[in-house]
Amino acid sequence: MKTNARINQTIIELIQGDITQQDTDAIVNAANSSLLGGGGVDGAIHRAAGPELLAETRTLGGCLTGDAKISKGYRLKAQYVIHAVGPVYSRGDSSVAELLKSAYRRSLEVGIENRIQSIAFPSISTGAYGYPLEEAAPIALRTICDFVQSNAQLKQVRFVLFDEQTLKIFINTLAVLSKQHGDLRYE
Ligand code: ADP
Repeated sequence: MKTNARINQTIIELIQGDITQQDTDAIVNAANSSLLGGGGVDGAIHRAAGPELLAETRTLGGCLTGDAKISKGYRLKAQYVIHAVGPVYSRGDSSVAELLKSAYRRSLEVGIENRIQSIAFPSISTGAYGYPLEEAAPIALRTICDFVQSNAQLKQVRFVLFDEQTLKIFINTLAVLSKQHGDLRYE
């Protein structure tokens, strides 16, 4: 089960898998604001990249929620890791949606500044940070679609979803979005 769609120059891929194994120019880490590693996808990326990654992220001075910082990829196939800090979910707090959107957008901006053409994202904030997937997936996909519509540098944006249920929700969400996004085409 996977889905490929296109907006202008950019292929959007939804797959199930492990983000540490991706060969895109950059992979995005769902980091915490210390940038000193953690559990979930953050721990997996640090283990796969090797200790040089922590040595570099120690020098970055942390990262605010909704922002992103870049490092090298070390032992990963990806040249860069973009460390994005999503919000901890809090029901009824309207700022969390804006912060989640910002974490995705800042990741893309930092990648563009570093001339990447392909990027892989995990589902930010929907693990330990508790963001409900049904709310997070539309924010993730809409932010990516809006960005690539006005930026032709990115050729490939891949969501690497860890489990089948998460992939299903992203696939269903993209189907809903495709009805609103005139430029989105399935491949
Ligand atoms: P957060 O703290 O931002 O919620 P988590 O790492 O706890 O981050 O979870 C974010 C998402 O990443 C979850 O859907 C989790 O299942 C997924 N995940 C965990 N490990 C991996 C991995 N190796 N590759 C891709 N996704 C992963």
